[in-house]
Amino acid sequence: MIIARSSDAIAPADAPTILVYAHYDVQPPDPVELWTNPPFEPTISDGAVYARGAADDKGLLLATVHAAEAFVRTIGKLPLNILFFFEGDEETGSPDLEGFISRFADDLRADFALVVDLGFFAPDVPSVIIGLRGLIYLEMRLDGPAHDLHSGEHGGAVVNPINALARIIAQMHDEQGRVTLPGFYDDVAEPSEQELADWQRLPFSEEEYAKRVGVEPVGGEKDRTVLERIWSRPTLDCNGIIGGYYGPGAKTVLPAWANAKISMRLVPNQLPEKVIEAFDRFVASHCPDGVKASINVISQSRPLLISPDSAAVDVVRRSLQEAFSARPVLTRAGGSVPVAEMIQRILKIEPVVTGFMLPDNNIHAPDEHFQLEQYYKGTVATAAMFQNFSQL
Ligand SMILES: [Zn+2]
Repeated sequence: MIIARSSDAIAPADAPTILVYAHYDVQPPDPVELWTNPPFEPTISDGAVYARGAADDKGLLLATVHAAEAFVRTIGKLPLNILFFFEGDEETGSPDLEGFISRFADDLRADFALVVDLGFFAPDVPSVIIGLRGLIYLEMRLDGPAHDLHSGEHGGAVVNPINALARIIAQMHDEQGRVTLPGFYDDVAEPSEQELADWQRLPFSEEEYAKRVGVEPVGGEKDRTVLERIWSRPTLDCNGIIGGYYGPGAKTVLPAWANAKISMRLVPNQLPEKVIEAFDRFVASHCPDGVKASINVISQSRPLLISPDSAAVDVVRRSLQEAFSARPVLTRAGGSVPVAEMIQRILKIEPVVTGFMLPDNNIHAPDEHFQLEQYYKGTVATAAMFQNFSQL
């Protein structure tokens, strides 16, 4: 974690302060063999820099620093006080972030907050993100026999933990794609009519989306559009199952245990603790005799929703337009950037979330890259934000 506040020598004492968040940690580069160039040796090719973190989020972080530097180098001072808040644990779920922000709330005090960790809705379509989903990540483990058993000698007599685990997971959705945990949708807030109408006008095609992901987007709730299902509806997904034998060839084993990794994306106004309780209750009531279930919550973060009408949103929108000469849109994102909600809840600052990544930047994947033009214009946009925020 890095906190750096601009010195009085370069910022007017009576000017407001903007907190600027970005993160400098990155996802692992694996599988390394799929990279065209080594992931930690930045390579420029076709107008983009290729490296792990080039887009998410080192490139964006650097743009915010260079925007500040540009003021100092040209006119010798900043238009407002800047408080850089750079995190090194974002990709591992920010386990210490909430405690850190609470403990250093005084050092983090600011008038505005800018979270720079996302990107454009589409090429040439800059975006201000007003909603993010929260996240619960947990492991569900079922323990059966004391050790692996011969599936011929014992098959039929004891409950197979993998079979039982698969059955519990399968029962967590109904035929309509809805999550069946009792109470799961109780606190879900529907987007406003205006917001839904805005989404209809976005340059989004289900066909292109299908092409990009390589499959028809027919998951989730049947009566909702793709953008609704990604942005404003909660989900429950099994991310992986381990247990038993998974080497080559056959091994007739009745496994002693099975473990599933489960993620749930939450939307306003769901609370992680309430959803975890609902999950616990569901598992307790659906776990068959003969196996014992245990749940280990790895991380949890709340969803975010900010007002689309705030002056801060307007500043970011205008600044993006100035730098990119393109009309920005207001969107949500299906992912989670926990810091934004913590800034809102703990520091009581309404954050604005934006960024300059493009949808094809391969973030978290091999050949991650960031277009230099996005980087340069992103720097100009951030400078414009500093200037425009200083006049609020
Ligand atoms: Zn990121």
